[in-house]
Amino acid sequence: MAFDVDALRKDFPILERTVESGARLVYLDSGATTQKPLQVLDAERDFYLTHNAAVHRGAHQLAGEATEAYEGARHTVAGFIGAEDDEIVFTKNTTEGINLVAYALENSRGIGPGDRIVVTEMEHHANLVPWQQLAERTGATLDWFGLTDEGRLDLTRIDQLLDERTKVLAVTHQSNVLGTLNPVRQLADRAHAFGTLVVVDGAQSVPHRPVDVRELGADFLAFSGHKMLGPSGVGVLWGRRRLLADLPPFLTGGSMIEVVEMDRTTFLSPPQRFEAGVPMTAQAVGLAAAVDYLQRLGMAEVAAHEEQLTAQALELLGEIPGVRIVGPGGLTARGSAVSFTVDGIHPHDVGQILDERGVAVRVGHHCARPIVRRYGIPATTRASFYVYNTPAEVDALAEGVRAAQRYFGG
Ligand code: PMP
Repeated sequence: MAFDVDALRKDFPILERTVESGARLVYLDSGATTQKPLQVLDAERDFYLTHNAAVHRGAHQLAGEATEAYEGARHTVAGFIGAEDDEIVFTKNTTEGINLVAYALENSRGIGPGDRIVVTEMEHHANLVPWQQLAERTGATLDWFGLTDEGRLDLTRIDQLLDERTKVLAVTHQSNVLGTLNPVRQLADRAHAFGTLVVVDGAQSVPHRPVDVRELGADFLAFSGHKMLGPSGVGVLWGRRRLLADLPPFLTGGSMIEVVEMDRTTFLSPPQRFEAGVPMTAQAVGLAAAVDYLQRLGMAEVAAHEEQLTAQALELLGEIPGVRIVGPGGLTARGSAVSFTVDGIHPHDVGQILDERGVAVRVGHHCARPIVRRYGIPATTRASFYVYNTPAEVDALAEGVRAAQRYFGG
């Protein structure tokens, strides 16, 4: 059953505010970061007010409570994606999770000249640059799946790209620019036939649809708390237990060691091996509250709600002459990031007119420069929807685009 969006919006006081022009905020930039409900803010505040201490150390009661809260958050996040607790590594964000894997693989897998690392042309820089760097450091070759005109992965070269030379396949589950939902399971099954490790960027999928790591078929999955109603400063790296157990640490120091002598150190098992230093405990607690919030709504219902808004946006924008959707124009295998261009008007100008009307969207290359280059455009305007958005807000987006055309004489 669908949830009550009007009731839910009361949990997000920021949505009541106006912008400088006096217009009510219409927040359509959840792909960049989401707003936080009171339940998340309260959970973080309550942690600091009543339980704050450094976890995993200290003989006192507060340290025990903080550790319980932190490990409880790990359990909540694990349940959310169908994982085991010790497969969940808390990171700063998606970017750190992917870098962790890239560095750890370099130090353990003997990747070198003659090997191949495969990405796609629709990756966010966070799932592209770490692999470019790994290729550069190891002498491996970087290759990639290109894109079709519709904004999907072009799989025609799959046999060349995935073979026994391919050590890593890094792919986004859902594009932050095009909205495209990629066939991760199909790709992972092909890759695994050659022993290739599959690293999935879940920054735009985990917040928006049910994701179960056992069904996904990947080996690693990274995502960010701040894109799923949670605090910034906390993210998650999930990895298969057996793979994590084989990986060396990325960052070293306190909290991740077993025995330290002056000239050598042994390390704890995962996940502690990958969580050096005092962790972001309050943020993890906040993330668990965000997960609870999403689970109360139901992830299938979240996806259905976004699909309705996306259908409306595609229809209304599609009716405006000169507006072109960059990405799949239909609802099949796509999420709720809707990018578009308006003939004759630069996206920054579209963004400015929208902003004056309170409509917050993102304009630019969205940290995925190869995509805009692929489609021969300087940038796009992107609206992205979440649980708190309403049909009236999608109307406001379309009206704002028409206003931009009137203003710029389009
Ligand atoms: N991947 C994708 C698909 C994203 O949309 C983003 C955030 N825009 C990231 C990775 C990076 O996330 P973070 O900045 O939280 O590390």
